Amino acid sequence: MKDEILSYREMCNKIHLNTIQRGMNFHIKKGISVILMSVRPGAPYDDEIDMVKNLLIYEGHDVPKSKQNPEPKKIDQPIWTDNGTLTENGKFVKAVEDYKKGLISPEKILVFEKLNSGIWSEKGLFSLINYETRISNSRKVIKFILEPVDEHIEIPKGKDVEEHNRLIPTGVKIAVWKRDKGTCVLCDSTKNLHYDHDLPFSKGGSSITEKNVRILCAKCNLKKHDKIE
Ligand SMILES: [Zn+2]
Repeated sequence: MKDEILSYREMCNKIHLNTIQRGMNFHIKKGISVILMSVRPGAPYDDEIDMVKNLLIYEGHDVPKSKQNPEPKKIDQPIWTDNGTLTENGKFVKAVEDYKKGLISPEKILVFEKLNSGIWSEKGLFSLINYETRISNSRKVIKFILEPVDEHIEIPKGKDVEEHNRLIPTGVKIAVWKRDKGTCVLCDSTKNLHYDHDLPFSKGGSSITEKNVRILCAKCNLKKHDKIE
């Protein structure tokens, strides 16, 4: 229900998923995308609500922080991943382009807003009608323009293909261990390590390769989830 106050758990239940691991989720369920936004001070991205035009302006996301990219806020927000697939930014950009070409109707996005730690509000259903690229602090950021739609959407129960539930093949584990030198990719810790799938929810098709697996320590993994919750 629009404007309902929800805990993180209740928010996940709304879309019948155990977790929502990231802010941008293109086609998290068949035909439905979900984004998590925040206009709180200190939020990781500059999302805005344009009260005059009644639009939501949602900032695209940075490259994930890694040893190769220690300062994501200094790098253009990416459309493509290193292995040539679209990032979440890219998938939403493509949806706008396809809509403008008249190939599809605007992408429907269910929006949740973080009000405080562990407190969320359902902002309702929006249409993704446009995007722009802006220069901010000498790098490119993407701004998605969303228009509220007066419509209710039923989110299907049951499992979609959720790749993060898939097992990581041994060969991939060995390759990742070598590449990450047996340390956490974020803080170099050698304790409490595990393999982290850095996978979008509904990538549909591409398999687990060393490019979407990394080593994280328990502390950094917790921080990653805190960012969302
Ligand atoms: Zn760590």
